[in-house]
Amino acid sequence: MKYQRPKGTTDIIPGESAKWQYIEGIARQLFKKYRYNEIRTPIFENFEVFSRTSGETSDIVTKEMYDFFDKGERHITLRPEGTAGVVRAYVENKLYGPEIQRPFKTFYMGPMFRYERPQSGRQRQFHQIGVEAFGVDNPTLDVEVMAMAINLLRQCGLHDLKLVINTLGDAESRAKYHAALMEYLEPLESKLSDDSKERLHKNPLRILDSKDREDQEIVANAPSILNYLTDDAAAHFDTVKKLLNALEIPFEIETNMVRGLDYYNHTIFEIMSNSKAFGGNWTTVCAGGRYNGLVEQLGGPEVPGIGFGLGVERLLLVLEAEKVDLPLDEDLDVYVVGIGEVTNEETLKMVQALRQAGYSAERDYLGRKPKGQFKSANRMNAHLTLTIGEEELQAGKANLKNMQTGNEVAVSLADVYTGFDKVYQDIVESEKE
Ligand code: ATP
Ligand code: MG
Repeated sequence: MKYQRPKGTTDIIPGESAKWQYIEGIARQLFKKYRYNEIRTPIFENFEVFSRTSGETSDIVTKEMYDFFDKGERHITLRPEGTAGVVRAYVENKLYGPEIQRPFKTFYMGPMFRYERPQSGRQRQFHQIGVEAFGVDNPTLDVEVMAMAINLLRQCGLHDLKLVINTLGDAESRAKYHAALMEYLEPLESKLSDDSKERLHKNPLRILDSKDREDQEIVANAPSILNYLTDDAAAHFDTVKKLLNALEIPFEIETNMVRGLDYYNHTIFEIMSNSKAFGGNWTTVCAGGRYNGLVEQLGGPEVPGIGFGLGVERLLLVLEAEKVDLPLDEDLDVYVVGIGEVTNEETLKMVQALRQAGYSAERDYLGRKPKGQFKSANRMNAHLTLTIGEEELQAGKANLKNMQTGNEVAVSLADVYTGFDKVYQDIVESEKE
């Protein structure tokens, strides 16, 4: 029997994982500057956390949930997205308390699970880096969150990006729009896809998000929500646009954009790439929006929120297609070359001491000849080699070689064990001369 990973999953093997760490590192540094702190919530939650919030007509809830009953008959779901679990944790840990700063800003990174048809950039286990900010309704925060997302992608090396925004207004705007949309869609009902026929009477806004070609043609002429906004909702959106301009962030307005989850309102946005990675089609790499009301839906007080989620696999696909060079190669500080079995114990002690002193160090474990060991040192881009044979061992010495310049010096083992910083500096200085 041949064992294979489950369909729609990948193994992120060493070499590949360095890219992940690089991106996660950039995200962590950037989030620190914006003062977002990490939250780690469970990878599974009670089914209702998602079914109640994502929307019963959303793709996630209707088709994509990985849910099961555990041995205690609890209905459990592997998280399909990050926000609902973070909001659940925000409420459960009372992170809205009076002593807690607003906005309460947090980020997460980790795997998400959706039962989808796997294809490039679409997996069953994928990874998101996301942020959430609670407690502030001011549109300035909406813009800051978008600016941070764009900064993150730019720092990863992406520049050909498109920011697309829309507003879903407040409840009153949506009620008015809902009526107008129904009036437009009902006469076209017979032409809609089966999914959208179903959505029509449950949640017609969802039809705007349909991936069906004919549905998309129909909604292209649908009324625009921008004509149904209340004064408050229009003012919120106007400020968002004004502040994006102030930050000189270009954007497009796409009035049919609704996002795949039901909990959004006011500002929603997607950052898209038309990279070769997606065959030149505009594809969303990062998406988010405001979700005032979600905290209450999960049993908390009336606290507004906004956030985004970025698909790491998609980001990596774009970076690869755009040939963005990620600085991944970690050179080796010292390769310890041992000549003959007699040196085995000493070379073990040497690599151990070097690592303890803060240097990366490697040695041979296969009993290879010096030539083979030097080959390895070269392959690992070792800066230095430290060679010891029987004679050196007797004399308490080793031979240190600068692999760049070819300079060699004898160093005492005592220095290797207790004063390697000085030894290292001396030889590295000689590199520069
Ligand atoms: P799509 O319309 O492509 O299905 P979505 O609306 O379902 O996207 P969100 O729920 O907003 O996506 O998730 C945010 C981001 O997470 C997406 O923009 C994408 O980068 C990534 N993402 C979502 N689903 C997957 C998946 N199955 N595999 C890989 N990445 C994904
Ligand atoms: Mg989807």
